Amino acid sequence: MADRRPADDCVHCGFCLPVCPTYVAWSAEADSPRGRIDLARGLADGRLPLSAAVVSHLDRCLGCMACLAACPSGVRYDVVIEEAKAAVERAGARPAGDRLFRGFLFSLFPYPARLRVAAFFLWAYRAIGLQWLVRRSGILKLLSRRLAQLESLAPPVTWHHVVARLPALVPAEGTRRARVGLVGGCVQKVFFPAVNEATLRVLAAEGVEVVVPEGQGCCGALSAHAGRPEESARLAHALLERFEGLELDAVIVNAAGCGSHLKDLAPLFPGDPALAERARALSRKVKDVNEFLAALPAVAPRGPYPAKVAYHSSCHLGHAQGITRQPRELLQAVPGLSLVEVPNAEECCGSAGIYNLVQPEAADELGRRKAERVLSTGAPVVVSANPGCTLHIQKMLRERGAAVEAAHPVEILDASIRAGRRR
Ligand code: SF4
Ligand code: SF4
Repeated sequence: MADRRPADDCVHCGFCLPVCPTYVAWSAEADSPRGRIDLARGLADGRLPLSAAVVSHLDRCLGCMACLAACPSGVRYDVVIEEAKAAVERAGARPAGDRLFRGFLFSLFPYPARLRVAAFFLWAYRAIGLQWLVRRSGILKLLSRRLAQLESLAPPVTWHHVVARLPALVPAEGTRRARVGLVGGCVQKVFFPAVNEATLRVLAAEGVEVVVPEGQGCCGALSAHAGRPEESARLAHALLERFEGLELDAVIVNAAGCGSHLKDLAPLFPGDPALAERARALSRKVKDVNEFLAALPAVAPRGPYPAKVAYHSSCHLGHAQGITRQPRELLQAVPGLSLVEVPNAEECCGSAGIYNLVQPEAADELGRRKAERVLSTGAPVVVSANPGCTLHIQKMLRERGAAVEAAHPVEILDASIRAGRRR
C-alpha cells in the first residue's frame, strides 16, 4: 500500500472554508484549503496537469495557516501547500517574468549583507528626495506593479539601519536566570534593528544572558514557504551550525514566520537522519520571544506606557504556533496600556512572506481591510510580532496618511521597562 500523505487526511468537511481569506474573497472552491488540497493530490497522483490555472490557485494561497488552526482532522496543510509549491517551482511552471522576479527576490532577501547594501541605497534614495519624487509621480506603477510594490514597502530607512550591528553577547542584569541565543533574522536584522535591540534589552533586564552567534544568515523560512526546500535546507543547515554547542536554554526568535519554520526543521533533511536529529534538537529549543517572556516571571519593574495599543495577531504566531495568549498577557501587564483588539484580528494582513510582492493586488485588498480595522480602533499604535506584517500594515496605513505607529510587542515592553527605570 502506498504511504499515506498529509492530503489524504482531509475529509472534505469544509470547516476551514469560512476562515480562509482567499475563499472568503473569491468564493471559488479552488481558492479554498479543501480545493487546494484536492489540486495538490491531483498533481501528486499525476491526474492533473500543472496548468496555468492550477498554478494560479496554488500561488494565490497566502500560507496564512488559518485553515491549519481550524481543521478538526489535523490536516497538515502547511506540508501539503509547501510540497505543491515545490512541485510548481521544480517544474518551472510559472511565466518567465514571474520566475525572474522570484529569482531576484531570493537572490536578495535571505542575505543580510546584500540587504544592507539595499538599505544603503534606500537611505540615499530617501535622503536626496528621490523617494518623494518617485512616489509622488507614480512612475513605478506605470513600469511594473511588482517593482512599485517593492518600493512602496520600504520602511523609512535611516543611517542606523545601514550601520546597526548586534553585540555578540549581552550579559544578564542581576542574577542570571537563563542563557539564550538570539536569531537576528535577515529582514529583521537590517530593516528592524530596533526590534532586535529592544529584545536584547528586555531579555537582559529580565536576567537573561543573550548570545548572538556571529555570521548568522537567513533561517530559510521565506524559501520554505515559497516552495524552495533545497535552498531552505541549505540556509537552515548553516544557521543550525551557528547555534550548536553553545549550551543554551532556548533559542529566541522575534519574527513569527522564522519561529514557525525553526520549530519544524527536521523535514528539510529527509535523506540525512543524523542532520534531521540535530535539526530536531535545535527546534526543541526554539521559542518566540513572547512565549519565552510570558513563561518567565517578570523581575524588571514596568513603568507606564499610557496609550491605547491595537493588537494584530500575525498568522505565523497565532495560527502556525498557537501563540495568542502570551503577547496579550505581556502587554496587558504594562501599566497604563490599554490593549484593544483589531476587529477580525486573526485574518491575514496580506503580507505573507513574499506574497505581497508576487500577488500585489490580492495582498493590497487584504491590507486595505486590515488598515481600516486598525483605524477603527482609534489606537495610535498597532503591534505585530512579524516584520512582514509590520512592513505591509505600515505601508497600507501610510497610503491612507494615517499617523499610526507600528511596533513589535517587545518594543512596547522595552519602553515600559525603560520608563520604570526613570521613576
Ligand atoms: S482541510 Fe480539514 S477542515 Fe478543511 S475540509 Fe479538509 S478536513 Fe475539513
Ligand atoms: S493557508 Fe490561508 S489562504 Fe491558504 S488555504 Fe489556508 S486559510 Fe486559505
